[in-house]
Amino acid sequence: MISQTDRIKGVLFGQAIGDALGVGTEFMTEEEVRRNYPSGLKNYDEIVRDAHRSRWERGDWTDDTDMMLCIANALIADKCVNLKSIAQNFKAWAAGSPMGIGNHTHKVLLIADYAEKPVEVSKLVWELSRHQAAANGGVMRTSVVGLLPDNVERNAADICRLTHYDPRCVGSCVIVSEIIHSLVYDSVSPSYDQIVEWGNKYDERIKEFIDLAHDEDIAALSLNDGTSMGYTLKTLSAALWAYWHAKTFEDGLLQVVNASGDADTNAAVACAVLGAKFGYIAIPSVYKNGLHRKLQLEVIVEGLLQFLNI
Ligand SMILES: [Mg+2]
Repeated sequence: MISQTDRIKGVLFGQAIGDALGVGTEFMTEEEVRRNYPSGLKNYDEIVRDAHRSRWERGDWTDDTDMMLCIANALIADKCVNLKSIAQNFKAWAAGSPMGIGNHTHKVLLIADYAEKPVEVSKLVWELSRHQAAANGGVMRTSVVGLLPDNVERNAADICRLTHYDPRCVGSCVIVSEIIHSLVYDSVSPSYDQIVEWGNKYDERIKEFIDLAHDEDIAALSLNDGTSMGYTLKTLSAALWAYWHAKTFEDGLLQVVNASGDADTNAAVACAVLGAKFGYIAIPSVYKNGLHRKLQLEVIVEGLLQFLNI
């Protein structure tokens, strides 16, 4: 029996670990992964120091977990969900020199009155993309929303729309947050039918990616396909694939990371789900202890547990 606290810690550490190891293969082709990591990337200290990766210390997480912590810090400070303060934290983070920030997120957060009217700005940028923009910047940070005791669907949707208005992004956030919530609060794994129902409520294009994750080998997800890398439904499929097929936390982590593509984001979301499923205790110590900002994460975990009264 995995305790609720253990699952909550598993979600937050899982996200950070997937992000921190995933940056080691982010944007690499299959051939580049093979050349750089002949037996697969397994640990932070093997991460190559090329121009992209040298910007982070080995074992450090990237924008995905930084933005998840913007949400977590707002929850801890406000002791409730306050969309305005989450948006302010996003804006303050973007005003620094945020490494790894996605193009769409950058566009939205840099508009002058973002902090005052986040949803209007987010909707406008989506409309200007002719309803095409559906990047994974919402789903990459949604894990912590699944830890809320109630109103998970509404909060996941609202927090997603602060930067990502497309219904495919919103559906991705609802599915990931609801799976995490169900594992943490009820120790129940939502069924395929339930997940399809959540997806269909937002956009019919989601189901194809749920089916792929459910029925196929990870290679069929084509996570390293250059034209669709960074698409919210690609990241959702990586997370669902891990949810259904990973035998252990480490198995899911290594398979998603070594599939490359937008690997830090894919693994951040997949491993948050795996952390909820298997618990903190099942994560090998080498990944937990090797996190560059482990102490910072522990403080957030404590703050969230207090806020949640657990
Ligand atoms: Mg990243």
